[in-house]
Amino acid sequence: MQGKLLAAVDVGGTKIYTVIADQNNNILAKKRFRTPAAADPQSIITEIASSVLELLKNVKAEPEDLSAAGICVAGYYDWQRKILCNSPNLPQLNNLPLEEVIAKELGVPVLVENDANAAAVGETRFGAGKGFRDVIFVTVSTGIGSGLVLDGRLYRGSHGFSGEIGHMTVQPGGLLCGCGRHGCLETVSSGKAMARSAREAIKRGEKTVLAKAADRGGRITAAEVFAAAAEGDQVAAGILDDAIKYLGLCLVNTINLLNPAVIIVGGGVAEAGEVFFLPLQAILASDAMACTSDPVLLKKAELGAEAGVFGMLYLLKEHLRLCD
Ligand SMILES: [Zn+2]
Repeated sequence: MQGKLLAAVDVGGTKIYTVIADQNNNILAKKRFRTPAAADPQSIITEIASSVLELLKNVKAEPEDLSAAGICVAGYYDWQRKILCNSPNLPQLNNLPLEEVIAKELGVPVLVENDANAAAVGETRFGAGKGFRDVIFVTVSTGIGSGLVLDGRLYRGSHGFSGEIGHMTVQPGGLLCGCGRHGCLETVSSGKAMARSAREAIKRGEKTVLAKAADRGGRITAAEVFAAAAEGDQVAAGILDDAIKYLGLCLVNTINLLNPAVIIVGGGVAEAGEVFFLPLQAILASDAMACTSDPVLLKKAELGAEAGVFGMLYLLKEHLRLCD
């Protein structure tokens, strides 16, 4: 089995997901665990490497059986300099040459990629975008991430920061975003933004069923906003309309710019189903340039939390020139 296995790791702010796969993308072992809260970067690096070694042991393989590891991480990863410039959820890893430090631990080549880029590749090759060459992937959950696959390949831009649809400006001078700018899509259409709008409406004394949940001491989440809107709550419906309107605006602009074949939307917010997808589809159909919007398919992501690791497995094979 020597040198025949691949490892892929999705490093998030709260959870790390590690898999070991063979070269046909069959997952042989997997492990999900909490991201160490420690402030020192070495403890996260050590945990990542240990999880890979532990899974190799589980499948009765030796460290020499591993040929390479792919790591995807939330944050701005400079593909040219091979440095994680800024990870809002994992600031301990900022400015680290991640490929180099993890390669030192595992003794094999390591490839690092932004998590939304990896998920875009995963969905394109193995999920909802299978068979398409021009795919826009957007994940709407706490934040909004996205990745572009153009002409069959991941489009990274000059340094690896392309596809930041979540940071398109939709309200100049609007709310402060995690990226340090104002009025980004993420400040109005993310799950976090919807929950914040609900809390503000309650504070203003607007009449909404969401106030009852807040009174009970419950945390208001985007899921509750969706549920309240489905029950006919006008305040919740207004928040949802706004979120979908601005997401639709950014997707329309992206369609006009790139003429994709398919737009895949994933993340917790997409789990709301038709109440989210139908109005979004209507915006794309009515607002994008007719010639570009007609053939665009809007699809729900299929791989869920597996998209990142599957994307890394594909990118690793591409990197090692193992792709068919
Ligand atoms: Zn932003």
